[in-house]
Amino acid sequence: MLLFNSRTRSKEPFTPTNRERVQLYVCGVTVYDDCHLGHARMLVVFDMMVRYLRYRGYGVRYIRNITDIDDKIIRRAQETGESVAHLTSRMIDRFHEDQAALGVLRPDDEPRATEYIPAMVALVEKLIERGFAYFASNGDVYYRVERFPAYGALSGRRLDELRSGSRIEVEEAKRDPLDFTLWKAAKPGEPAWDSPWGPGRPGWHIECSAMATTLLETPIDIHGGGQDLEFPHHENEIAQSEAAYGAPFARCWIHNGFVQVGAEKMAKSLGNFLTIRAALKRFDRETLRFWLLASHYRSPILFSDALLAKSRTGLARLYLALRGLATTPGSSGLVRTDPWQARFEAAMDDDFNTPEALAVLFEMAREINRLRDREPEAAATLGACLRTLGATLGLLEHEPDAFLRGAHSDSDTSWIEQRIEERRLARLAHRFAEADRIRDELARQGVLIEDGPEGRTLWRQSSQ
Ligand SMILES: [Zn+2]
Repeated sequence: MLLFNSRTRSKEPFTPTNRERVQLYVCGVTVYDDCHLGHARMLVVFDMMVRYLRYRGYGVRYIRNITDIDDKIIRRAQETGESVAHLTSRMIDRFHEDQAALGVLRPDDEPRATEYIPAMVALVEKLIERGFAYFASNGDVYYRVERFPAYGALSGRRLDELRSGSRIEVEEAKRDPLDFTLWKAAKPGEPAWDSPWGPGRPGWHIECSAMATTLLETPIDIHGGGQDLEFPHHENEIAQSEAAYGAPFARCWIHNGFVQVGAEKMAKSLGNFLTIRAALKRFDRETLRFWLLASHYRSPILFSDALLAKSRTGLARLYLALRGLATTPGSSGLVRTDPWQARFEAAMDDDFNTPEALAVLFEMAREINRLRDREPEAAATLGACLRTLGATLGLLEHEPDAFLRGAHSDSDTSWIEQRIEERRLARLAHRFAEADRIRDELARQGVLIEDGPEGRTLWRQSSQ
């Protein structure tokens, strides 16, 4: 397998220290509000990677943290009149609901920052001891960036450029505008933990260094997150962890691209976001996943209703091929090493090229349609393989009919089935004009019917 390493800006062979226990750490979410589709991309991209690595026979230990203390959380709790703990536990519950609704597998561990404060304090102490951090006059502790020569290596930035381009006001307490907070002294009324520097709370960057080095052995095989975390968050994580332990922190850095609305990144601060739960009211979870995986994970991806509709149509083509075949989701194993399976793996092995992998699934669907009548057993075998490969992307896990019937509610469904039955009786009685009227009436409701073999009538949403 080849993975693109942000640190070297090139594709490198994937050679984990122990293939039974690939260590993957991904920066998770800050729980102060509902997550939007930008977060969904991170969740789905790394879910796809974990599923595929496991399919490829790797054992994976997947850690994704939760930031449950920071300025935004404190501000939001003041606005809503809740305690910080109440707000974060409420938002974590909602985050877990979103994750499950997207079909994203839970990580093996989901450390919360507030549960690792002693490890963070110990790490800050170590950095002070080794001369990489200092206690400032305002009560905060800062990391001394110029002491770490490799600073900027991940994101390809140079210290002098950063300094001259820096729009950060030189805070009096900092020795250098590039220095960043490791420990923040608490203001009255803020949540605080004891430390050698007085009551306070950890800076955001130190959280991940402490949790990753507590839960995993360094060097971590893969450290991931959204592209916006590359600088400064991941740069700072490297500076902290490598200065404290004098050893490499992570071997491969993976960053997923943004979700864009028009020319802008989808972001809470820009107000152009759609929450995961709002999106799931409009689109099926697999439609969202298909849309997220139809572009390579490093490319920007555009959000639009038209693209989502196109994703649903694409997915429906795969389900139409599966309809009527005797397969169940992901159940079959791979009964036949056909050329499609090898091509799917070649695409995924090449830095998780999901657009290419999806193209192989479409070719399989065409082949199933070609074989269906002449060689039904071969079609079913290929269908089982299609489902197994789809499952590594978190797709094709619905029953084909259930997916193709789409957003119709149970009461719609029983009305549709009743009309189809009335049409059948009309045809039996040779009342063809009435039968056609019923078909047209259903079409006006967006329901397309097809008369299949043995007098069975199938239906689906007509947009597919
Ligand atoms: Zn992080």
